[in-house]
Amino acid sequence: MVSKVIQKNRLRSATKQNNRCFYCGLPMWHSANQDEFSQSYNLSTKQAHGLQCTAEHLKAKSDGGGNEHSNIVAACRYCNKKRHQYRKPPSPERYKKLVTDRIAKGKWLPESILCRVQSTLINQ
Ligand SMILES: [Zn+2]
Repeated sequence: MVSKVIQKNRLRSATKQNNRCFYCGLPMWHSANQDEFSQSYNLSTKQAHGLQCTAEHLKAKSDGGGNEHSNIVAACRYCNKKRHQYRKPPSPERYKKLVTDRIAKGKWLPESILCRVQSTLINQ
């Protein structure tokens, strides 16, 4: 169960970030607009799963990071999950660079999903 404080700070960050993921810069959906999101990017519900907006602690809770707004950014589920698959998660700055490099090479998220989202963004 996600706490109310985290939820509030996630939404606040998402709005500030124009609903783009802090790491990969791709658009994200919230539970309120999931269907609309999938439709506008031509994705199935399953394909859109990784682009759900989640709260990301810049400084991990295990390292003493708190739930305050300055420590919470909005990141897509995919980036959030991948960062924490490292035994020692990279710093936010390093991880952002890593993700940006991968995106530039088209090697982030399943290719079909990345292509659909990017082509929709270009045509908007
Ligand atoms: Zn992301």
